[in-house]
Amino acid sequence: MVTFIAVLVALASFTAVQAPQAGAAPPRLDTSSWDKYEAPFRLAGPIYYVGTQELAAFLVSSPQGHILIDGGIPGAAAVIEKSIRDLGFKPEDIRILLTTQAHFDHVGTHAHFKKLSGATVQAMIGDDKLLRDGGKSDYLFGGAPENAFPRVAVDRVLKDGDIVTIGGARITARHTPGHTPGSTTYEMTVNEGGRDYKVVFAASTTVNPGTRLVTNPSYPTILEDFQKTFRVLESLQPDIFVSGHASFFNLKAKRAKMNPESPAAAFVDPEGYRALLAEKKKAFEALVAKEESSR
Ligand SMILES: [Zn+2]
Repeated sequence: MVTFIAVLVALASFTAVQAPQAGAAPPRLDTSSWDKYEAPFRLAGPIYYVGTQELAAFLVSSPQGHILIDGGIPGAAAVIEKSIRDLGFKPEDIRILLTTQAHFDHVGTHAHFKKLSGATVQAMIGDDKLLRDGGKSDYLFGGAPENAFPRVAVDRVLKDGDIVTIGGARITARHTPGHTPGSTTYEMTVNEGGRDYKVVFAASTTVNPGTRLVTNPSYPTILEDFQKTFRVLESLQPDIFVSGHASFFNLKAKRAKMNPESPAAAFVDPEGYRALLAEKKKAFEALVAKEESSR
């Protein structure tokens, strides 16, 4: 609830500061499922879902230690920790912390898990600064302390194409900025039942309410960054895609038809990936057109 109010306050203040439309009410964001427990499960190969009902977190396991991709809001630390333990893994064995975007609802537990495990934080250039200052320099949320998160040291700054690896897991980081300056998409191939699956952890391409795309002094390259990101994401051809929000990849529906012994098949959805991208791009282009016509 605290977060729910914080988000409204944040969106309200940014609507006031950044959006020229007077009286536009901030959209209501339903965050009620953001810290709610979701039973953890294996999703494909060594990838496990350890997030909450809506905010995703993925554990990529290996005998040499684990990678955690995204970690929800600060208040979700206990839930994620329980999920990791329920699967029989130890959160103390996390070696690398990654994120698809340095917003409070995806990196809120980074500081907690770094302290618990001694893991290295590896972050894409652009998001490294946000992690270090707890979101203070965010182009949209930076003026809203309610959306800040615990600051955390960054041990490795990633650039486009860098490889993150541990044990047999090999993850390619793609710089897909816009939503945040260092938003990241990860690609990896996993094997399950003798078949290879190309998995993409897609960065968000949502344009948050109040964001200016055509002229944005707080983020001058935002328009080109989003356009570049759509090109990169359109060039990928995943069998399976996931993202920071469970609803973006229909976790519920896919999980319902999943065979726990061989879960990957239920998550194969190249058409869903194309459809989500098309929907996000249409929304982005409509916002750009609207902003251009009001200049
Ligand atoms: Zn975000």
